[in-house]
Amino acid sequence: MQLVFATSNAHKTEEVAAILGGQWQVTDLRSHPGVTLDEETGDTFEANAIIKAVSGSCQLPGLLVLADDSGLEVDALGGAPGVRSARYAGENATAADNREKLKSELNRKLQYTRFAGRFQCCMVLARDGEVLHVTHGVVEGQLITREQGEGGFGYDPLFIPEGFRDTFGVLPAETKNQLSHRARALAAMKQKLAEAA
Ligand code: IMP
Repeated sequence: MQLVFATSNAHKTEEVAAILGGQWQVTDLRSHPGVTLDEETGDTFEANAIIKAVSGSCQLPGLLVLADDSGLEVDALGGAPGVRSARYAGENATAADNREKLKSELNRKLQYTRFAGRFQCCMVLARDGEVLHVTHGVVEGQLITREQGEGGFGYDPLFIPEGFRDTFGVLPAETKNQLSHRARALAAMKQKLAEAA
């Protein structure tokens, strides 16, 4: 069964392919360089995931296209970086820039001793511009202000999922892929994926 994941983020694709397992052949936009996704102008993860799924699938006729929009919400920062997670430190920010910005924002919040937060993910399945299904996944946890581990991507070295003592940067990929926001959104999507394939 074939699926195009509407991202150029190799880390995300690796996670989705590992979570779905060998039955699925997952490619992403690196294999479809002609596809350009519309700008993420939405205020919510769902609105942006729909923009990616619809614009991507319109350019890949007949193919099953999955898009995710995801990000980190920190309560002490009023839900930031939220939908701006990829661009928190500026339009062309790297993941390291974004982590620096997060650490510096958290370090200004002297009244807090713990920083509750969560990763959110919305997944949208589409074909030929038509949305087939929408799912959501969340993983709650705590943010820390000193990076731990080099695994994963993005904010992973700063996020300790609930029930664990280590960050996603330290925990094995298999552990992250069992409990992450992306894993949960994908688990809710599995039945529809099988039906649509
Ligand atoms: P998107 O590609 O527009 O969905 O942006 C997602 C951004 O949220 C990424 O660039 C990361 O900064 C952050 N993010 C989403 N999922 C994860 C994750 O699993 N670990 C760490 N950071 C994540």
